[in-house]
Parts: sequence; C-alpha cells; structure tokens
Amino acid sequence: MMRAMVLRGPGTALVEEERETPVPGPGRVLVAVEACGVCRTDLHVVDGELPGIATPIVPGHEIVGRVLAGGPGTAIPAGTRVGVPWLGATCGRCGHCLSGRENLCDAARFTGYQIDGGYATHCVADERYCFRMPEDGDPADMAPLLCAGLIGYRSLVMAGDASRLGIYGFGAAAHIICQVAVWQGREIHAFTRAGDEASQRFALGLGAAWAGPSEAAPPVALDAAIIFAPVGALIPAALRAVRKGGTVVCAGIHMSDIPSFPYAILWGERTLRSVANLTRRDGEEFLALAPRVPVRTAVTRFPLGEANEALRRLRAGELQGAAVLVP
Ligand SMILES: [Zn+2]
Ligand SMILES: [Zn+2]
Repeated sequence: MMRAMVLRGPGTALVEEERETPVPGPGRVLVAVEACGVCRTDLHVVDGELPGIATPIVPGHEIVGRVLAGGPGTAIPAGTRVGVPWLGATCGRCGHCLSGRENLCDAARFTGYQIDGGYATHCVADERYCFRMPEDGDPADMAPLLCAGLIGYRSLVMAGDASRLGIYGFGAAAHIICQVAVWQGREIHAFTRAGDEASQRFALGLGAAWAGPSEAAPPVALDAAIIFAPVGALIPAALRAVRKGGTVVCAGIHMSDIPSFPYAILWGERTLRSVANLTRRDGEEFLALAPRVPVRTAVTRFPLGEANEALRRLRAGELQGAAVLVP
C-alpha cells in the first residue's frame, strides 16, 4: 500500500488516501519518494487556475526518490536515485519535439497535473523523463532543483548575457538562480513585496547587490529582468526598469492580468517573453551546473500529511527558500 495527498476537486484541501501501490507498465518505473518540493505551480493546480485539470490528481513535480522496480523494457536499475520533473511525457514526433523544443509539445503531459505526482510515498514515472541524481546528499535539499532550479535556469538562459539582472519575486526559484547568476559574475537586483524585509535580507545574503520593493526603480538600469511572482502588474514595472534593448522574462505558468501600459516602455527594442516548462536538456545542463556553483538550497521540511500547511505557508509568503514534503 502507499499513501498520497490527493486533490479531489479544484479549490479544495488535499485529502490523505491509502491506495494500492501501482505496478509500473512498459517503460515506467515505480519510485519510492524520498522528498518532493512544493512549487508555486502546485498552488495554481490546487486553485484550478490551469486549464484542463482532471481530478483526482496527486500534485508534486519536484520528486527525488529511488527506483523500486521497473516495468517491461526499462533500463534504470532498482535502487538508483532519480529526479522526476514537471515534464512527464511528450509525443516525440511533432515539430516542437523534433526541433529541441519538447517543452512546447501540444501532447505533453505533466507530473502532478495530468500524471500523479510526488505528494505521496510512491509514484510511477516514464524513465525517459527521469534524471539521475547524486547518490549522496540529502534528497530534501535536492528536490527544489527539479523545478525551481530547472525553470529558473531556463529563464536565466533566456535573459541572455545580461550583467545587471533584476529578479522579481524572491521565492524558491529566485534563491537558486541568484546563486547561479552571482557565480557567473552577474549583478543581481532583487525585488520583493513592499515591506518584505526578510526576503530582501535573504536576497542580500545570497549575494544580491541590491534589494528593494517591486514598485521601486533600481539604482541602475537593468539589462534584463526575470519575473517569478505571478503578478501581471510587475510586467510594466520590469519594462520600466530595463534599458533599451533589454529583456523581460516571465517565468511562471500563470499570472494575473497585465494592466495596460504605454508602448513607450516596450519601445527601444525591449523584449518581453515567457518561459514554458522545461526540456530534458535544460535539466541535464542545470543538474550538471548546480554542484559546480555549488547551489545550496534553503528548505523547510514538512511531513507528507502536512502538505496543506506547506501550501498555506507558500501562499502566505511565509517561507524563505523552498518547502519540501518528506514522506
Ligand atoms: Zn511533441
Ligand atoms: Zn514547478
């Protein structure tokens, strides 16, 4: 038997269930979950803010665990530590998949959204989308790398060679990507909710050159900005903060509506773009890079049964770094 925290309908609290432990089918592995990060996307899933969600579903897409058994045709040996990310399956045949953009596949399926995820003692994953994870080290420390880290990394790449980089919303992804960007020699300007001095201190402690409220103008014009907070009003704020030719990257899967803004703040060849999902290549690149920095995650651990409390604290902005469920 296994235990899982299940979303039975949008906008409801997760319910703890006992289930039969699944038997992995062809190409699938059964994973004993060691830790699962709590991502802001999980809030959007629970709140019913993403299209086409089918409940019941087990959330969670930052999974670190050990393979217990493989279905027919699998290659990963039992006992291997793996990471299971948001990208759970793609078609492999469409134009996006064949051009290195499997993150945009229309037939993609996602862990913790269309495939039962890691808010559980066990999960089943397609082994082709799993990453090998270090055998030693604390799985709770690694879990946030699998989405906050990967999506943050893809967003950082999309920001180009910006040396002065703004980060709006200093949560799990920002605290990881700030470390990578500082290591790369970039100057980080961290924007938080007004009055959130704890997050501003946290950012400065991770090497940010400046931290302040998101409405404030930075002390210098920025080359690029990444918006992690799901707040559409930050788009005009970020466009005003970047220089001509600069880029604003929206990293989230969901955002509140964007208020109208004058064309003049986009003009000057500024670029506004989003980042969607991840490719397996992003994962391989980032997981190789993280130990070189080295990235040190700040995590708050919760027992599996306290998933609702972890989500509440994430929503309230009461966490520094990332929340992680440990079954
Ligand atoms: Zn495809
Ligand atoms: Zn995520």
